[in-house]
Amino acid sequence: MAELTPNEESTSSEEAYKVFVNLLGKAFYEDVGVDGRVDPREPVKLKKVLDHFGENPQWMSMTEISRSVKISRTYLRRALRYLEEEKLVQCGQYRRYSLNYAGICEAVNYKILQKQETFENKRSGIAEYICLRCDRKYNALDAASLISEDGNTFVCENCEEEVITEKESQKKMEAQLKLLQDQLEIVKDIPIPVRFVNGTQLSWKTEPERGEGIPRSGFGAQLGHT
Ligand SMILES: [Zn+2]
Repeated sequence: MAELTPNEESTSSEEAYKVFVNLLGKAFYEDVGVDGRVDPREPVKLKKVLDHFGENPQWMSMTEISRSVKISRTYLRRALRYLEEEKLVQCGQYRRYSLNYAGICEAVNYKILQKQETFENKRSGIAEYICLRCDRKYNALDAASLISEDGNTFVCENCEEEVITEKESQKKMEAQLKLLQDQLEIVKDIPIPVRFVNGTQLSWKTEPERGEGIPRSGFGAQLGHT
């Protein structure tokens, strides 16, 4: 980082967060609806809203977000509530929203650890089949009745997505988590995007303790530049 000029630094920081949030969405929110439930019939996916925050490091009103992402305010309200609970998005003064720069790394790290733990627990369990989209599980006996017309794959009776063995699904997920983890390592050591810091005239909803709840490295330093 030391060789980068401030301008390059801000671009790379924005880019790093964008990639990070995108990988996060792919790993955890691809088929998750605005209420945090996996439901293939849910028309609006959380990943879409989350990606918008990754691409726009600034405070945004509900109207701005709903226009850009093209979803209704009703859906957006539910999505924001869920993302706030997940500690990925924060609400500032005047009900404006941004990525939760202070807490996102810790929140994501926790999610990764939890997922890895479930993998560990499953390793010794019996072989099962799992739907890639809705997570429905089948035992070997059930799976036999799910065979596709061409006879090459199993198809979920709930959502018609392909059903694969849990071992295969776990491998896929582990590869995705590895990418996310690598990007987390990058993001946790860089300053938060300059555009976010300089663009903000807003304080946090709850006044954080000194050194707590305020974005980590770079926040104070960058304010010093302005
Ligand atoms: Zn399914």
